[in-house]
Amino acid sequence: RKYRRELQLRKKCHNELVRLKGNIRVIARVRPITKEDGEGPKAANVVTFDPDDDAIIHLLHKGKPVSFELDKVFSPGASQQDVFQEVQALITSCIDGFNVCIFAYGQTGAGKTYTMEGTLENPGINQRALQLLFSEVQEKAADWEYTITVSVTEIYNEVLRDLLGTEPQEKLEIRLCPDGSGRLYVPGLTEFRVQSVDDINKVFEFGHNNRTTEFTNMNEHSSRSHALLIVTVRGRDCSTGLRTTGKLNLVDLAGSERVGKSGAEGSRLREAQHINKSLSALGDVIAALRSRQGHVPFRNSKLTYLLQDSLNGDSKTLMVVQVSPVEKNSGETLYSLRFAERVRSVELGPGSRHT
Ligand code: ADP
Repeated sequence: RKYRRELQLRKKCHNELVRLKGNIRVIARVRPITKEDGEGPKAANVVTFDPDDDAIIHLLHKGKPVSFELDKVFSPGASQQDVFQEVQALITSCIDGFNVCIFAYGQTGAGKTYTMEGTLENPGINQRALQLLFSEVQEKAADWEYTITVSVTEIYNEVLRDLLGTEPQEKLEIRLCPDGSGRLYVPGLTEFRVQSVDDINKVFEFGHNNRTTEFTNMNEHSSRSHALLIVTVRGRDCSTGLRTTGKLNLVDLAGSERVGKSGAEGSRLREAQHINKSLSALGDVIAALRSRQGHVPFRNSKLTYLLQDSLNGDSKTLMVVQVSPVEKNSGETLYSLRFAERVRSVELGPGSRHT
């Protein structure tokens, strides 16, 4: 009977998620104007909201108004908790075996890291997600055994780095699981089992230190690399032995600014080309999914290949498009919001399972 109840619960949760528009949801978050934005006309606010519809955002670009409709728009007044509330149903669905991907997209300085990592006083989605997963699995502990593991990685110039590794690393490669499940894995990537909130903090601190030690200009480095927190939740029903595995990918993408167009040279140009390559590969994958093409080019970048599990038909994806509200960034904002609308019109289906 317990098994039947569990299945009913799952079905309910599944139906709830399916009700969400499309499988890729897109929300925008506009950051507040900060001191760094400076003063004068270039620091003027060019973003406004619709008082009757929290899915609409208006942008004034070169004096012309442009409007976009997304799934939800958060104004600068929104708290970390407000944003988290919007994504928590997705997060807990990984306990039921769904693969989930949440990524922050936008130009450098638009608030991606604030949304995902947050600050010590005001943590973002990453920490809140792990805390929520802990409390949810504890509630189910009478019937289910769960293990939660995390990996922390970054992709920089198309190279995947393990940020929880303690040994000098071999080059990490993404492989297909030999069990025929179609899942992907990365041999050698550290999976750290977290058993308490304290463990979470240790993992974040370790990963963070590992990320920063090698690069002298961390701001530049982090704006050009993708940071990924991969949480795997494995469950086993104590009475039936039924097993589930769900994966939650939390991704702070590289800055979407079009560096390649601003006369970059040498290694900067190479970096820019890599970033453009992986972000445009993401766009291409999404376009292929949208048109339900048989072939989806997941393997065109490390990012899309690694996220393949989370972008196919059975997965739940949410993109937070970060927006700077000031005039000098309106060109990049326009570009980001156009990308957001393009992503939003994707509905994942069974046809998207091919690689
Ligand atoms: P990105 O990761 O996109 O480069 P950051 O997250 O570093 O951008 O944000 C740039 C600056 O703006 C940081 O100082 C950050 O603390 C601040 N900021 C971003 N979003 C918010 C917000 N919603 N509320 C308060 N400060 C924010």
